[in-house]
Amino acid sequence: MFTLHPFQEQIITDLSQGYLQGHRRQVCALATGGGKTVVAAHLGHRAASKGRKMLFIVDRIELCGQAAETFNDMGLSVGILRGDATSYTQADEIIVASIQTIRSRSAPDWMDFAIIDECHILHSEHIRLMEAWSDKAFIGLSATPLRKGLGKHFTNLVRGPSIRELTEQGFLVKVRAYAPQADAILSALDGVSCGTTTAGYDYKDAELGAAMNRKELVGDIVRTWQEKGEDRPTLCFAVNIAHSKSIRDDFIAAGVNAAHLDAYTDATERREIIDGFKAGAIKLLTSVNVLGIGFNVPDASCLILARPTLSEALHIQQCGRGIRTAPGKEDCILLDHSGNCLKHGLPHHFIVPDLDQGDKPDPAKKKRKEKSPFVACKECGAVMDPDEVTCPQCGLDRPVSGTRIAYREGKLVEFGSAGAGGQDAGEDPATFYRMAMGYVLAHGKNPGRAYHLTQARHPGARVPWSWRNLPPLDPTPEVARWIKNRNLHDLIRWQNRRGAA
Ligand SMILES: [Zn+2]
Repeated sequence: MFTLHPFQEQIITDLSQGYLQGHRRQVCALATGGGKTVVAAHLGHRAASKGRKMLFIVDRIELCGQAAETFNDMGLSVGILRGDATSYTQADEIIVASIQTIRSRSAPDWMDFAIIDECHILHSEHIRLMEAWSDKAFIGLSATPLRKGLGKHFTNLVRGPSIRELTEQGFLVKVRAYAPQADAILSALDGVSCGTTTAGYDYKDAELGAAMNRKELVGDIVRTWQEKGEDRPTLCFAVNIAHSKSIRDDFIAAGVNAAHLDAYTDATERREIIDGFKAGAIKLLTSVNVLGIGFNVPDASCLILARPTLSEALHIQQCGRGIRTAPGKEDCILLDHSGNCLKHGLPHHFIVPDLDQGDKPDPAKKKRKEKSPFVACKECGAVMDPDEVTCPQCGLDRPVSGTRIAYREGKLVEFGSAGAGGQDAGEDPATFYRMAMGYVLAHGKNPGRAYHLTQARHPGARVPWSWRNLPPLDPTPEVARWIKNRNLHDLIRWQNRRGAA
């Protein structure tokens, strides 16, 4: 019927294994491009061959048709449970249903198991169904299963390959990201309040819209695109409708054919816009929550991120619209006007964490939140990995004053050295900390010593805990000498104190 990639076979084996171990509630984390639908279709087909029936639950009525069509194209017989378009028989291999329809008319109880698509948006109706069908198995599918408390409802997590792995294997394209106005964005975000929103804990929509929909910020978006967008077909994620329309208007004023789309755009116009975008007549399509409006917007090779979010899941889902492969597509350009890449990292940095267990704070998660060492190149705005010192785009070295050291693929490349003898006045405390950590680890000392050494060398400098996540560096001869002297100095002081006591 259809062949699976080895990693998809592995996922199915892992899910079966989980089931045999007694897990009736499993989450399958599968990144964009991992073939989520293929895995679901395979599960449904295999079950049907043993006389067992699968219910595939989508979270919006509009998605039923798309899902049914996809399964149909794969050669499965598909039934639909969707408002007045309901049509299914017990002979169908898969029944696709929206959670809204299940709520109003319930699902046929002769189903044997269910798949919850996009289970990171699990809501009360899903939970009620899982309770009502306590004896049936459920599998939640998601690229970003980060929802708070997901671990209360599911007991096992099966991880597919990461975005990084899929990119290395050629299932996704690489990303080139630029965050040229990071400082302006951050200061615009200053004072925007946060709270519970439809996207979880995030910036409050109205305030965010007001902060981002400013002439100079929107102007920056257009200028950056003209400079770095390579005239590519581009999708833009805006904060709200007014913001999205401002962006469209500025692009049009700059002579770029742009269109805005939202949930209220009427069906005919929507089709025209999407067809125009696919045909290349419309260069830029801007929208609010493109993923949430319930119809198929095509992918693009350039994305403008203009909607700041505290939700790592939303960030990754948005980036997902640009990283799928397509004929002739080599990479995806991310133009970040939201600060999201600096806050959450690039798609290939994303790693699916363990399922959140709910109320009690999760130290591992807190640690993930703390790490935000992503920076943008001062010259071209390219987003750099935490361990990159040379900009991958323009080749400029990150201005690390004092000893300039590049750390690449585990090898130290020294570009220059601090003044002979003493500490360079402009030395970066973080760089010193990393060298101190390198020294301390090489000498089998407690890592906490790196903190004290940094305090001694840079009195008053803030040494955040998150620096522990930075890769250690080999100390320069000068730094090694300084640490050795400092250790001796501290040892002597300690012995003197003991002697005096
Ligand atoms: Zn650069």
